Amino acid sequence: MKDLTRSACLHIAIAILALGLFAAGCGSSEDSADGSAQTAEDTASQDETTNDDADADADADSGDGDIVVSGEGVDVGLFFDGALAEDATTVDCTLNGGAETTCYSLTIAGYPASHDVGPFCPDTIADDSDAGGIWFDGEGVYDLDGDFIVGLAELYDDDEWQMYDEDGNVLVTETAEEFEAAARPDVDPSLENHCVEGALEWLDNGEPITTTVLIPIVPVAADSTAAPQGSQGITLDGVVIAESAPVDAILSAYTIAAFDDCGGHFNPFEGYHMHGATGCSEVGDAADGETPMFGYALDGYPVHSPLADADLDECNGHTTEAAGYHYHANSAEQNQVISCLVGQSVAGEDAGPAGPPQGE
Ligand SMILES: [Zn+2]
Ligand SMILES: [Zn+2]
Repeated sequence: MKDLTRSACLHIAIAILALGLFAAGCGSSEDSADGSAQTAEDTASQDETTNDDADADADADSGDGDIVVSGEGVDVGLFFDGALAEDATTVDCTLNGGAETTCYSLTIAGYPASHDVGPFCPDTIADDSDAGGIWFDGEGVYDLDGDFIVGLAELYDDDEWQMYDEDGNVLVTETAEEFEAAARPDVDPSLENHCVEGALEWLDNGEPITTTVLIPIVPVAADSTAAPQGSQGITLDGVVIAESAPVDAILSAYTIAAFDDCGGHFNPFEGYHMHGATGCSEVGDAADGETPMFGYALDGYPVHSPLADADLDECNGHTTEAAGYHYHANSAEQNQVISCLVGQSVAGEDAGPAGPPQGE
């Protein structure tokens, strides 16, 4: 075997048309507490992945355990009207595996262009599922209806849960101040036992918070898979695919950070962002046995809606004739849209003119 040290990015670059990815500039928020624990295990056996359409030099080593994948690259034309706050531009970028390539600089609107936002929390314990969104905690996904609110003490086996008053009204964050006090890591004690929801008008200036990400126009394989650091990608309707919601911290404060039926919610720093794929933001028809695409991961590969019972790799990806290499999102209950990335992405501080949370 060749001497594959860290300069392996070179041969990969040759093999696949180099280009890389990355992005994200969303640093902090309620979500940063969770620190996504999964580090990619270096399972070095993805022999089934192929590189059929790599007509570049066959210098690639596909046999030493790397996942070798192919892809057409990012198609800006797939984004919904209004998903991008500015025209896409191209910039030189250096990826976290060392590849130097060309990235798209994409500024997403920070508000879904393809669907309404909310509802989040139910108003009363008599409400049905139409009145609220969903909650997921890594174990299950639950309709946020009145029965769910009443059942919290039993679900989480703790009698401190009491998220409604004697008249059956659900305790919900009702002002921008309450929202901010409940959405931060050290939840104000007065807001324990509240269903936390935000609103566009409570963000700075009452406007969506845009985020600029750098994504390699053509994906570049990484030496090994890795868990995404921070944000994971963007949806085709202009929303950040965020890291896992910090469920333990949320629950330990006796709060529920309600999601809408599209798996998204507001926080004061990032605005509206999504944590769970529920079939929203999709574009186009799916091939037989497939699900539609709804976003791009930060390594430039497409992300499709969840697909059960498929033979997927450790990052929930596979290659099909119709779509090339792509990921399938995890089911929403897992509270993590993308498990790991097979491609390189732009390293954090080099992500470019990213839009770190304003007002931090
Ligand atoms: Zn969140
Ligand atoms: Zn697929």
